[in-house]
Amino acid sequence: MNTDLFIAGKWSAASSGERFDVLDPATGDTVASVADGGEADARAAVDAAAAAGPDWAATPARVRSEVLRKAFELMTERSAELAKLISLENGKALTDAKGEVTYAAEFFRWFAEEAVRAEGTVGTAPSGANRILVVRQPVGVCVLVTPWNFPAAMATRKIGPALAAGCTVILKPASDTPLTALAMAAILAEAGVPDGVVNVLPSRSSGKVVSAMLRDPRVRKLSFTGSTEVGRILLAQAAENVVNTSMELGGNAPFVVFADADVEAAVDGAMIAKMRNGGEACTAANRFFVEEPVAAEFAAELARRMAALVVGPGTEERTQVGPLVNEDTVAKVDSLVKGALEGGAEAVTGGSRPDGPGFYYPPTVLTGVPADAPILREEIFGPVAPIVTFTGEAEAVRLANDTEYGLVAYVYTGDLARGLRVGEAIEAGMVGLNRGLVSDPAAPFGGVKQSGIGREGGHEGLLEYLESKYIAVNW
Ligand code: NAP
Repeated sequence: MNTDLFIAGKWSAASSGERFDVLDPATGDTVASVADGGEADARAAVDAAAAAGPDWAATPARVRSEVLRKAFELMTERSAELAKLISLENGKALTDAKGEVTYAAEFFRWFAEEAVRAEGTVGTAPSGANRILVVRQPVGVCVLVTPWNFPAAMATRKIGPALAAGCTVILKPASDTPLTALAMAAILAEAGVPDGVVNVLPSRSSGKVVSAMLRDPRVRKLSFTGSTEVGRILLAQAAENVVNTSMELGGNAPFVVFADADVEAAVDGAMIAKMRNGGEACTAANRFFVEEPVAAEFAAELARRMAALVVGPGTEERTQVGPLVNEDTVAKVDSLVKGALEGGAEAVTGGSRPDGPGFYYPPTVLTGVPADAPILREEIFGPVAPIVTFTGEAEAVRLANDTEYGLVAYVYTGDLARGLRVGEAIEAGMVGLNRGLVSDPAAPFGGVKQSGIGREGGHEGLLEYLESKYIAVNW
């Protein structure tokens, strides 16, 4: 596969000639080297996106839609090889990688369908003086910055709506996982995306490259998925040129199990909410709040299921949990668990880092986690489930909301009215009610509080890439 920069429809070396290594998280060995884009390359990418903008915006929506539909078909045809690539550079188990390719491709299909529905409105002013005509226009050149945990889906969730809306883009993928983004560039070109409409710029100096693009007045939109920490920095930079922003940031999801819940179903849901992607998901259940009468049963069953998972290289078919993405991630998980254990928690299963190569951490269940443990405040981003007990609905809501994040929450209860009441009371952009998975290309994905601004997917996802222009008309 090509490992150069993809700018203006051509593969090119970085202007500095520099490259950087991509590692296999299962071994720590180098699997590829990729061109290391710098500020001059970023300028070239913005030049290409700006030059391609007017023609792409003027391309009929049906044509743009069909290009996205073709990209969906190509991704689906090549799902096995894409899944292997994701697994190789990210470490996730092949089953998770296959799930990601399906999910990622669906954004192209969904936005192929939405591309032809970017409708405006017409109305009459309340005074009766004039008509109010609203048309939707593409925002313009977009910078898309994505994380390593879903290297395909986080890219398609942005590229799909941007192209559907008539925008041109520069994608800056995470430097741990640039290969999938480059594979997506090749697929989009083959699907018929004109030169310059999609540019992919891997870089080890992400800060400098993204800042350079945000300083360029031709860039009108930043869509970022990543940590809240980096999101804050980019929001400040975007403020300089008043750049339109969409921010999908960190999460600290509560997983609330009431005593009236079906405990077996709650454990099934917990396995998905916690272990999809080996725990490396912004939607991962991070804090388990279980009502006292069912807490012991839930913890024992969850520990039994977690202990039975097969841990190994993501690329092996039998593996259910792969290594974490890099050394820093595994070190962080290890220190959060150590902190909880030192504070008095007990590891029912797992709880310590194994010896040997690769960035592995075992599936872990902790009980008796103290309320002030950092593991309840910070994103774990690993296969660790800390359990805290509670009594009554009010306490559940208070605990769930005791965080600066507000991406997603999971609630298990046998009482639908309670589920809806608690779902409304929890400060989160999304709620899984008796369900451990919320992500769906047809639904608006996003957070409140410090988990972000804006929504991806659904009809809202398209609106993020459109401006509403109002024309006052007399007729
Ligand atoms: P990250 O460190 O914030 O990095 C995300 C992206 O930003 C990467 O491409 C990274 O490039 C780039 N970046 C880092 N520092 C930058 C800077 N100063 N200026 C411009 N770009 C910069 O996040 P991550 O560790 O890759 O991903 C995990 C985080 O993403 C978690 O917090 C998770 O919750 C969040 N996430 C959120 C969602 C959501 O939809 N809400 C979805 C998935 C993940 P490099 O790789 O080169 O550093």
